[in-house]
Amino acid sequence: MQMHNFNSGPSILPEKVLQQVAASIIDFNNIGLSILEIGHRSTWFEAVLAEAKQLIKQIMQLNDDYEVLFLHGGATTQFLEVPMNLLPANGTAVYFDNGIWGKKAIKEASHFGKVHVAASSADKGHTYINKNYTIPTDAAYLHLTSNNTVEGTQWHQFPTTNVPMVVDMSSDIFSKQEQFSQFKLIYAGAQKNIGAAGVTLVVVHKSILGKVDRYLPPMLDYQQHIANGSMINTPPVISVYITLLTLRWIIEEGGLAEMERRAIERSRLLYSALDSLPLFVPTVAREDRSHMNAVFTLTTTALENEFLAACKQHGMVGIKGHRSVGGLRASMYNAMPLSSVQALVALMTEFNNKHYNN
Ligand code: PMP
Repeated sequence: MQMHNFNSGPSILPEKVLQQVAASIIDFNNIGLSILEIGHRSTWFEAVLAEAKQLIKQIMQLNDDYEVLFLHGGATTQFLEVPMNLLPANGTAVYFDNGIWGKKAIKEASHFGKVHVAASSADKGHTYINKNYTIPTDAAYLHLTSNNTVEGTQWHQFPTTNVPMVVDMSSDIFSKQEQFSQFKLIYAGAQKNIGAAGVTLVVVHKSILGKVDRYLPPMLDYQQHIANGSMINTPPVISVYITLLTLRWIIEEGGLAEMERRAIERSRLLYSALDSLPLFVPTVAREDRSHMNAVFTLTTTALENEFLAACKQHGMVGIKGHRSVGGLRASMYNAMPLSSVQALVALMTEFNNKHYNN
């Protein structure tokens, strides 16, 4: 059966990347060894790491003031590594409370210094981005989540401020053109748009480091990671390699401009179905809708399980909403072909016509 992968992460990868990884598990670059068997300090892996770093810089158009790191521990570890490295004990960091991932980041940061929540969308169940905020100019940094994976909202215009901006881009990185230099630190778990689980991308402007006095364990110290070339210990070799293959794929396909065009095309198609089919209800404020994760419900919630069963029957996986918000969610990351969204819309239309007003 033709599968349609709407998983929220780990999620869909380009077919070409899967083919290349599969081949490399048997024989990496015709060297007679598997990618799983090579040492991380071998020239083979050094080349992988160097190219991955170089492609990240190329895609982001960043200069050498920025360092590219491939770390462990997921974006979740960055929730604490960011404040540990950037928030002095007597300092204040500004956070936005627009979803569950931002909330977790706030919780971690509050152990290291003061947290000022600039705006919250909790009053409406995080179904919008609260843009009614002011940013204290003396803050150590400002943190936001560019795309709220669970709630289905996305920042379409970032704040302008002189305070260093830190962004969790886990679920929309490299899905659109961006002025990356507006951020001083960008982090993202790889398992949505740039590879498989196991590696977290961190891109940091060196000028913001070295300003806190507390003890930083080496594995949680960006300066140590930089000094050791992301190899304080054994890196997740295959995950870094999958990220390299995915970065090459993004560039071959036409780069961020093309990723953006595809994301807009996919999400427009799905949201126009959600807007026009009376059985389906998009839950997010129109102007804040995510191009990556569309969250919705059915007017008759009792039908949700039947709809999920129909999805399963048609090979559509990952449509169930996150356990914290319920409902339904379709994630449409970079590698998703338009045909999968077309198939979902066709099923939604059929389901609507069968059940609405019956
Ligand atoms: N931030 C965002 C925006 C996420 O979507 C997720 C989960 N996918 C996380 C952080 C946590 O990521 P991880 O599981 O890599 O720690």
